[in-house]
Amino acid sequence: MMVLPRKEVRRRANTQCEYCMLPEEASEVTFHVEHILAKQHGGDDSLSNLALACDRCNFCKGPNLSAIDPTTNEIVTLFHPRHDKWSEHFTMQGVEIVGITPCGRATANLLQMNAPKRVQLRAALDRR
Ligand SMILES: [Zn+2]
Repeated sequence: MMVLPRKEVRRRANTQCEYCMLPEEASEVTFHVEHILAKQHGGDDSLSNLALACDRCNFCKGPNLSAIDPTTNEIVTLFHPRHDKWSEHFTMQGVEIVGITPCGRATANLLQMNAPKRVQLRAALDRR
């Protein structure tokens, strides 16, 4: 079995989830090195196909490559941490993550970035 370059993925991500930006130290669960393009779609183990994701983002994303933009109801491709710049697709409104492009909206929605518990956790971190 090939060993994933976990250390390098963590370092590159600054040990934050590359989708919701949660710092790993704030999570009770070790973050996942996830395949951006899932293996079932032909994704490989190269660094360009790997991202650090919190367990919630990784669970919600699953093998999805696209999602529905809740504003237009159109199918759009998900945020790609290697190709896309976070700040071009998302912004923070207080402790909520708001998508500012179709891709950002669809990704925030599919990954349930503003689920109540996640917003509460961000608020708690903000107060530290
Ligand atoms: Zn996340």
